[in-house]
Amino acid sequence: GNTPSRHFIEQAIDKDLKDGVYDHVHTRFPPEPNGFLHIGHAKSILLNYGMAKEYGGKFNLRFDDTNPTKEKAEFMDSIIEDVKWLGADYEDRLFHASDYFDEMYEDAIKLIKKGKAYVSELSADEMREYRGTLTEPGKEDPNRNRSVEENLKLFEDMKNGKFEDGSVTLRAKIDMASPNINMRDPIIYRVAHMTHARTGDKWCIYPMYDFAHPIEDAIEGITHSLCTLEFEDHRPLYDWVKEECEYKNPPRQIEFAKLYLNNVVTGKRYIKRLVEDGIVDGWDDPRLVTIASLRRRGFTPESIKMFVDMCGISKANSTAEYAMLEYCIREDLKLKAKRMLAILDPVKLVIDNYPEGQTEYLDIENNKEVPEMGSRKVPFGRELYIEREDFMEEPPKKYFRLFPGNEVRLMNAYFVTCTSFVKDENGKVTEIHCTYDPETKGGDSADGRKVKGTIHWVAAKEAVNCEVRLYENIIDEEKGVYNEDGSLNLNPHSITVIKDAKLEPELGEAVAYDKFQFVRNGFFSVDSKDSKPGAPVFNRIVSLKSSFVL
Ligand code: ATP
Ligand code: MG
Ligand code: MG
Repeated sequence: GNTPSRHFIEQAIDKDLKDGVYDHVHTRFPPEPNGFLHIGHAKSILLNYGMAKEYGGKFNLRFDDTNPTKEKAEFMDSIIEDVKWLGADYEDRLFHASDYFDEMYEDAIKLIKKGKAYVSELSADEMREYRGTLTEPGKEDPNRNRSVEENLKLFEDMKNGKFEDGSVTLRAKIDMASPNINMRDPIIYRVAHMTHARTGDKWCIYPMYDFAHPIEDAIEGITHSLCTLEFEDHRPLYDWVKEECEYKNPPRQIEFAKLYLNNVVTGKRYIKRLVEDGIVDGWDDPRLVTIASLRRRGFTPESIKMFVDMCGISKANSTAEYAMLEYCIREDLKLKAKRMLAILDPVKLVIDNYPEGQTEYLDIENNKEVPEMGSRKVPFGRELYIEREDFMEEPPKKYFRLFPGNEVRLMNAYFVTCTSFVKDENGKVTEIHCTYDPETKGGDSADGRKVKGTIHWVAAKEAVNCEVRLYENIIDEEKGVYNEDGSLNLNPHSITVIKDAKLEPELGEAVAYDKFQFVRNGFFSVDSKDSKPGAPVFNRIVSLKSSFVL
């Protein structure tokens, strides 16, 4: 429909379809396989895929593998996994830019024949010098007016390995006086004697991005080539290539603003450093915002999609808050995840008047906001674990949890009144004693008396011990992301490992990516790397408290 909320790319596509520029929509996501994808790429993936879907068109995944030095098979595998996980279904439309090296070569010859490209002998330094500046036009290359025959011969020699790396290039012949520096006879082919992952040693010349990209798009029949703002100044070159190479129904490039997150590291080179320096546990460390990290931490594709949608599509650069991403995962999980009992910092609570050796099974709703999620049986006994912070020997005002003489509710169980406690020689509380009121089963009193505090618990005998990991931003937010020397301001407390959290027994069976709410403590997901059968490791995705307001 024509709702006013349609973003500028939808409006542009609507117009193209109405004007008959295109009669369908075909988009692509073209990552360079030189690292893991991050949350910013998710925006591009979901936008490109979303446009294809919205207009009943097609979506391609294409590896931009024109630069053999930086490409790794590991990265291709991770990219495929991430794109699929996000739900961007490219069906069988997986392509590689290197599939088109022959066509690109032919296009280069076509340009030479048209007098639109020439072989240059300028060194990289000379090239820079000749290029000019924003205020000064460039200088013409001494080889600019070579004959077509000579250029064809030299380009063939380039292809046949007669030149060393960097000694010659093929340049487009456009306009050395153009105010747009990208149009000042850009290099379109370079010599690089390198083995390519897919084409092996077939080529020792490789096309430059600005030449290759429009050709890749045109060959695949892309209609709308959606990319980020830094390519805006390259669009005239994109258009020049598609026109001079004479593609029919050529694609149209449209730029949108990148997604940036405040106080979060997204740059590939920074992440790479953290990985190489062993500061994080790989590209999928749950503290990073690569898509693999977010998945491992416990984020869902739905939460990422909600986040990207909330950020919106525009041409204006802006930064989003990580807290908004947290808001999205809470929204997604609050009615999906079971609410379980788990004690992260355990201290024993003994109910002195509860029968010794007895275990009763309490029926507890899995999610009280979603009755259809049913209930489960949870063991309860004389000895329990509660959170250490739920007891205070000398409570401040407004502390409603356990302290000597105070009555509280054990969630879904009984009212208990604290009677005494035991400390070790260091003054650390090791055990708390209480009595319970059998008439309050389920958590309500028969006589209508009220308690102000409700705490959670886990039966000691049946508890499973698990490792639980809590995370903070890997960046010290007080200090900002970067130091003056460009290094990262790391937060030394970005991970807390709890070796012996006490969890209700059902959690011992959880497997990778299972997600739960641990009541009062947040949303957790089972780690896919370090969990073992019967010994899950839990990552906290997010706490329950929100600093984000819609
Ligand atoms: P980085 O600089 O973070 O390494 P990149 O742009 O070099 O990213 P590519 O593999 O070239 O990574 O990116 C593939 C696509 O993803 C490009 O079309 C690019 O514009 C887009 N993209 C990259 N970063 C973002 C971002 N932060 N927000 C939205 N789209 C992005
Ligand atoms: Mg790139
Ligand atoms: Mg890059």
